[in-house]
Amino acid sequence: MLGIFKKTFKGLEKTRKKVSNVFSQLSKKSYLDEDDIELLEDCLSQADISYTIINDILESVKDKQSSDNTWRDRAHSVLISKLQIKQSYNDIKKVIILVGINGSGKTTSAAKLAKHYSSNNEKVCLVAGDTYRAAAVEQIEMWSKKLDVRLVQNPGTTDPASVAFDGVESGMSRGERVIVDTAGRLHTSVNLMNELEKIYRVVSKITDQITTLMVIDGNIGKNSLLQLEEFNKYLNIDGIIITKLDGTAKGGVALTAISDYKIPVYYIGVGEGSDDLVPFSPEDYLNSILGKDNE
Ligand code: GDP
Repeated sequence: MLGIFKKTFKGLEKTRKKVSNVFSQLSKKSYLDEDDIELLEDCLSQADISYTIINDILESVKDKQSSDNTWRDRAHSVLISKLQIKQSYNDIKKVIILVGINGSGKTTSAAKLAKHYSSNNEKVCLVAGDTYRAAAVEQIEMWSKKLDVRLVQNPGTTDPASVAFDGVESGMSRGERVIVDTAGRLHTSVNLMNELEKIYRVVSKITDQITTLMVIDGNIGKNSLLQLEEFNKYLNIDGIIITKLDGTAKGGVALTAISDYKIPVYYIGVGEGSDDLVPFSPEDYLNSILGKDNE
């Protein structure tokens, strides 16, 4: 199995190649003219980095002299300063509620977390909170069998809050780490968003040990940040898992979520298997995007 850094590095290969090419071109210059600045701006924007961050990077190189190829180092120091956020895996509580839009990777991430915690000798319980789609229940059932972790489901109800309540109540009494999967929804669907609030409210009657993680498909790019903002209005989003960074994702979304929204990214998903979950490391992530190790 690839190491953590290698998985991140490999996932962001496409972005790194583009960004790296631009910095290689610029490295020959001791001063960046307007065309150079535009080139840099375009490439950072294509990597899904927000304009607030891009502006700060551009400010750090505009009207400056560089004799020793420090353009990339300057971008790196701007970015690393923006990734300074208090983030501890111990902050993730006993009950994890996964939310996000359809297909973002919630169920797969639930399975990956289940694998992670059970590998660390924790007892784990998965809760099938996507009560709308039979296929979703089948999918999480398949994972629970494969990973040999307990599953709480209730085919007799379509009320996800009631399934979540049962799962969390029984899980807490058994000392389990409880991972609640929920149905995908768009922030524009007010009823479904209210339903998420209800799930949270009902579970908080049992415990305050709850962490809400939003699962974001890394391929969706800047739009996903709008979703994050809207979900955050209904629920306090405590952290993020960014999935599908093994595909065509560009990577900037993680930087923006942390820097502009001050929400920690805890994990990234780099494949469909239960082992394909990598703890987020700001330094590894930046090196994977800026291509420092690529030349
Ligand atoms: P949900 O609707 O949010 O529960 O999404 P699923 O967990 O069902 O995932 C949707 C699809 O994305 C499935 O085909 C997953 O195998 C796939 N998927 C989830 N996470 C990742 C990932 O990190 N990398 C890749 N390549 N595929 C993923």
